Amino acid sequence: MELTALDGQRFRFDAGTLSLEFLLTGGEGELARWEQLHRPEDLAAWIPRSRLGVGGPVEVSAEELAAARRLRAAVRRLAAGAAGGSRSFAAADLAALNEAAAAPPPAPVIEPDLTRSWAPPVTGAQFLSAVARDAIALFAGPALDRVRMCEGDRCYLLFLDTSRPGARRWCSMDRCGNRHKLRTRRDRNPPG
Ligand SMILES: [Zn+2]
Repeated sequence: MELTALDGQRFRFDAGTLSLEFLLTGGEGELARWEQLHRPEDLAAWIPRSRLGVGGPVEVSAEELAAARRLRAAVRRLAAGAAGGSRSFAAADLAALNEAAAAPPPAPVIEPDLTRSWAPPVTGAQFLSAVARDAIALFAGPALDRVRMCEGDRCYLLFLDTSRPGARRWCSMDRCGNRHKLRTRRDRNPPG
């Protein structure tokens, strides 16, 4: 997914998995300035951009938008905790995952050309179910150890490290990876 930083730099970011990608829609507190989900139409417009691969119509209600923000906040707390090495999670956040996952996810459809799509319309509740199921698979499986927060200064991007060696440190080499490289080079060769 292509992101734009506050300084205007555009860079590609791979969250590695649907539930962490969903965190790109914004957040609470300091992350509120990134908020993209102001109205139900905003979520309906974002869902086709996600890695779920929704090509058809999407329907989102006001209740589903509120549920989306609650689920997102829970996923963020869980993922930030996991990235920080915590293995003890708030019961309310786990309950938020369970509640969303209990709804049916989008129904897969196979097309005549043997591509997969989702039965239209995909609803907000179906999408949130897919996000919650992805999060449960993530937090209840071996990939939990691969949840990371970018090590960049004031960068809060969370991702699943899917690299084989498991040594991914940055949201993007073009963004925080490069800034880190420049800084280490500067420290090694101080001006004057
Ligand atoms: Zn970063």
